[in-house]
Amino acid sequence: LSDRLTSTFKNLRSKGRLTESDIDGTVRQIRRALLDADVAVPVVREFTGRVRERALSAEVSGALNPAQQVVKIVNDELVGILGGESRALNFAKTPPTVIMLAGLQGAGKTTLAGKLAKHLREQGHTPLLVAADLQRPNAVTQLQVVGERAGVPVYAPHPGIASEAEVPTGDPVEVSRGGVTEARAKLHDVVIIDTAGRLGVDQELMRQAADIREATQPDEVLFVIDAMIGQDAVNTAKAFLDGVDFTGVVLSKLDGDARGGAALSVASITGRPILFASTGEQLTDFEPFHPDRMASRILDMGDVLSLIEQAEKAFDADQAASMAQKIVSGDGFTLEDFLVQMQQLRKLGSMKKMLGMLPGMGQMRDAIDNFDEREVDRVEAIIRSMTPQERTSPKILNGSRKARIARGSGVTPAEVNQLLTRFESAQKMMKQMGRSGGLPGMGGMPG
Ligand code: GDP
Ligand code: MG
Repeated sequence: LSDRLTSTFKNLRSKGRLTESDIDGTVRQIRRALLDADVAVPVVREFTGRVRERALSAEVSGALNPAQQVVKIVNDELVGILGGESRALNFAKTPPTVIMLAGLQGAGKTTLAGKLAKHLREQGHTPLLVAADLQRPNAVTQLQVVGERAGVPVYAPHPGIASEAEVPTGDPVEVSRGGVTEARAKLHDVVIIDTAGRLGVDQELMRQAADIREATQPDEVLFVIDAMIGQDAVNTAKAFLDGVDFTGVVLSKLDGDARGGAALSVASITGRPILFASTGEQLTDFEPFHPDRMASRILDMGDVLSLIEQAEKAFDADQAASMAQKIVSGDGFTLEDFLVQMQQLRKLGSMKKMLGMLPGMGQMRDAIDNFDEREVDRVEAIIRSMTPQERTSPKILNGSRKARIARGSGVTPAEVNQLLTRFESAQKMMKQMGRSGGLPGMGGMPG
């Protein structure tokens, strides 16, 4: 059996490359997953094209089957585009550090200003919030409320808006400049400038944001974008990149249903890193952005899982067929076969870690989680300590043989017995499956 396995790998290796049909089936599923996640169509096209190219030129790995290998390439590419490691804020060498927020109205800038202020304060900084949104009624009051909750002062030279209809007067550029001056005077080491947005991209708004940028020379310009924006992410991000330019992105409303395709769209179109994720209306709903988690979310674990299951099925088809053959022909399911099954389960376990899979994998995940790596080593050691005859006919294992095997594999005789009991129940299951005509699956695997 293991000879058979070796020759399968030899065949793949001698091909040296993954075949187009290996790749295309998997890439098709990746494309569907990305479109489902609302990644912009041109981004999906470019991304899948690049994955296909990389996969075609990839050396065939002995450890992974082709579909698994494509999934790994996809995951690597996704994490790479999303920024690899999470990036932290850049602080100015000479304080104050100026952080300017930009984005459409309703994107979550003001909320983020509060979250960021609270986060920085907790890290020992002394931030100052600056109310430079003089566009919308109540925008200043909203920031004042948020500042109070965060325990951070707000610079607002036009306070006291009495009615919702009243729009504060004043020049947002002057207010921003004043905010930085105020911070310097009062020894605030970070300034967070909350700016105005429009419902759609708008030239006047862009010019205003660019002027604020020019006047305050921010260390970071954070573009805040609603994760639910979907296909519009590309145009909005491009407009802000051209109109204001930004150093980083914050993805807001990630607590919604959106799978977060906007993250991939924006990162891919602008090349700017995503720094934070905003995940709710409370000030504490805020976290550093994790590219690997986002990759999992975009691909959706369910989809990745089904890919791996399919891959695994293809991988096992040969072995399963030869096992079924043995059972039907009366050769029986041996301890060697049992070991191969356990080793496959282990392979699946390391696959899980490699892809950084997180929640929602259901039964398969439980099987993998409950799986003890050392157990495979122990089983392997025990079986390796048996003679070929003992492996095919475990019935002949008497007390002294078991004691010898236990000594040889460094376990207790009781552990040898345990293994034999488990093997017998697996064997029984295999026999039943053989009789019912189905191909045996992987032992100990639900479903
Ligand atoms: P701005 O116009 O860009 O300043 O956006 P706001 O900060 O005023 O947010 C607009 C709306 O979105 C408000 O009702 C916020 O409470 C809400 N909001 C902001 N961030 C989040 C978030 O991460 N999750 C959810 N669920 N709502 C958010
Ligand atoms: Mg606002």
